[in-house]
Amino acid sequence: MSGKPIHRPWPRFSFQDRRRPVGEGRKGVSNEPRSFRPEGWAIVLALLALLAGLGARSGQGASQISRWQLRIHPVGPWYVGDVLSWEVRPPGSGLPGDARVQIQVDPPSGPQWEATLAAWGIDQVQAAVVPWAWETDGEAPGVHVVTVRYRGQEVLRQRLYLFPSSLRPFSERGVAWAEWVTACCQVVYFTQTETQRDLPELLATTEAVYAEVTQRMSVQPGQRAVIVFLPRLLGQGGFLAGEMWVTYRDRGPLMEPVRQIVYHEMVHWVEGKGVKNWRPTMLVEGLAVYLSGGHYRPHEPLFRRAHAVLQWGRYQPLSVLGEDFYQHQHELSYIQAGALVAYMVERWGWERFWAFYTSLEAPEQGETQMQALSRQLEARFGQTLDALDRDLRAFLEQHPATPEDLEDVRVTVALYEALRAYQKAMDPDAYYGTAWLPQRKVMQPRGIVTDAIRSPNTALHQTAELLLQQASLAWLRGDYPEARRYVEEVETLVDAYRRGEAIPWERLPEARRFRRWVAWAWGCGGELQRLDVHADPPRAQVRPWWRAPELETWVLPTTDRSRACPAPSGEVTRQR
Ligand SMILES: [Zn+2]
Repeated sequence: MSGKPIHRPWPRFSFQDRRRPVGEGRKGVSNEPRSFRPEGWAIVLALLALLAGLGARSGQGASQISRWQLRIHPVGPWYVGDVLSWEVRPPGSGLPGDARVQIQVDPPSGPQWEATLAAWGIDQVQAAVVPWAWETDGEAPGVHVVTVRYRGQEVLRQRLYLFPSSLRPFSERGVAWAEWVTACCQVVYFTQTETQRDLPELLATTEAVYAEVTQRMSVQPGQRAVIVFLPRLLGQGGFLAGEMWVTYRDRGPLMEPVRQIVYHEMVHWVEGKGVKNWRPTMLVEGLAVYLSGGHYRPHEPLFRRAHAVLQWGRYQPLSVLGEDFYQHQHELSYIQAGALVAYMVERWGWERFWAFYTSLEAPEQGETQMQALSRQLEARFGQTLDALDRDLRAFLEQHPATPEDLEDVRVTVALYEALRAYQKAMDPDAYYGTAWLPQRKVMQPRGIVTDAIRSPNTALHQTAELLLQQASLAWLRGDYPEARRYVEEVETLVDAYRRGEAIPWERLPEARRFRRWVAWAWGCGGELQRLDVHADPPRAQVRPWWRAPELETWVLPTTDRSRACPAPSGEVTRQR
C-alpha cells in the first residue's frame, strides 16, 4: 500500500469524540464507558425500532399498487438534520396524460416540490422522484404532514415523525465522508465505520486487485478508479454507477470475501474505461465471473457448477438467457455466463476471445442482441450461438458435477433468494429492483451521509440479518444442511412478517434465540455484529455503542438466569 491523502486528511477521530453526544452535556452518562447505563437508551431505541418497523411495513416493494404511495428515503426513523428524498408512486401500472405531481410538507405554507412520473429503477416502476429534497436542519421535531397532489386533487396525505437530533443513534453521529488516494485508486469511505477501522487492508486489497485486473485485461484506464466502501448492504453488495460501490459491513448478511466483490466490480470498471464497443450483458457479466474466478467466491469450479445447473434442469438456452439477461434467475444466469466465457477462452484462447469481445458490433436494425451475437460468432468462428451452446453442453458433460456441486448450487440460489425476499419485504431501499442508490457527486458536497450508512435496524431486522449471516457462513464452509436450516428460518420469518404477524419469530428456534441475544446485547449497550454459535459457550463480536466501530467479544447467555451484562473487558478484537 502506498499513497497519501488528499482533500481530507486522515480523519480526526478519537473515542473521546464518540463518547460525548455533540452539544448535549450528557457528561455523567457518556464520558465514562465503565459506568455507562444503557437502560434508558434501550427503551428509547426499542420505541424507535418499533416505529421503524411500522414504517417499513407500509413501504413494501410490490411492482403494482392499488393506491398512491409515498416512499421516503433514506429509511427511517428520521431525525432533524436528515435530508429526505421523495418517491411518489401512482396506483396501477401508469397514468396517461399530465403526469406531474406536487409534493408539500406541512401545507399550506410548507415547502413544495413538483416532479414528473417516469419509469424508475431497475424494475422500471412508475414514480416521481425528488432526490435530497427536504433539508430538515432547523425544522421542529415532531409530527409533520406530507401531501401529494395530482391534477389539482390531493391524492395522499401522510404523517412523518421527525425525532430530535439528540436521539440520533451513536452509529450516525459525526460520521463524515473521507477518502484516501493511492497510486491506482481513490478510496472513499465514511468515518467511524468498519472501513475506517480496516482501511489499510482494504487499500491493499484494492491496489492488488487493480494491478491484477488491468494487467489481465491489458487496459490502462489512465485515471484513478473511484471505489466507495459503505456499511450498508444494497443489492448483493456491489454495484457500478460510474464509480464502484462495495458493501463492507461487520453484520454482513452475506459473508463472501470483500476482495471478490471488489474484483468483480473492478473488471466492469476497467472494461468500461478501455473497451468502448457494444457487448451483450451476458458476456459482460460472464467475463467478470470468469476473471474473478467465481460469482460470490474465488476458485469456483465454473464448469462443474454449470453442469450442475444442467443436471438440475434449470439450464437456459444461451439465445434465451442472453436476452433480458438480468430478468432471469440471478445466480444461475451468472453461473452459465461465467462458464460460457470460460469455455470460449478454453476453446479459442484468451487472445482470440478478447479480440472478438472487443470488436463486437451493435445489433443491426430489427436484430435482437443474441441474433447479433450469433451472426458475429458465425462470421468469426464459423459457428452460430445455438451451435456454440450445443458444444458447450457437450463439453460440460465432460466436467460432471459432484452431488456436492449440485447441492452447493441449489443452496446458493436458496440463500440469495432468501436475501432478496428479506430485502423486498423488510428493506425495499436495498432490494435491487427498487434500490435507493446513493450518489456521491450530489451527497458528498452537501455532506449528506445517511443514505449510504443507515440500514433499518430494528431487533427484527438484526435477527434476520444474523440468520442470513449464519446461512452464508455455513454455505461458505460447505455445511449445506445447516445453511438450509437458516435459510428456511429466514423464509418463514419474512413470510410471517409479510402476513403481519405480531411475533413473526415465534415458531422459529434459531430466530427466537438470536432475537433474545439481540435484545440482551442492546440492553447491555452493544449491537451484535457476528455470532459464533459453534463456540462453547456461544459468543459474538459486538460493537459497543460508545466504541464503534471497534468490536469486542462477548460471551452470549445460554439460559435466562445468565443474562448479566459482560464486564467491560477493554479488550478490542479486530478480526471480522
Ligand atoms: Zn456484474
